[in-house]
Amino acid sequence: MRVLANKDFGTRECPSCACEVPANSNRCPICSYHFPAPSVRQRRLRFWGALIMLALIVLFYVIR
Ligand SMILES: [Zn+2]
Repeated sequence: MRVLANKDFGTRECPSCACEVPANSNRCPICSYHFPAPSVRQRRLRFWGALIMLALIVLFYVIR
């Protein structure tokens, strides 16, 4: 089984027809399978990650 979302190579495998689809495309050009949108959860996760990093940096300077 291959990785479905391979961002390193800019393509991902269509789960419906197994062809390589550009990672930034959310619809398969062969079978028009519709990929789930770049999830809100992922974006939210990135947001909280950045926020926690910022909090840690601030904390670091406050403690010193
Ligand atoms: Zn397809």
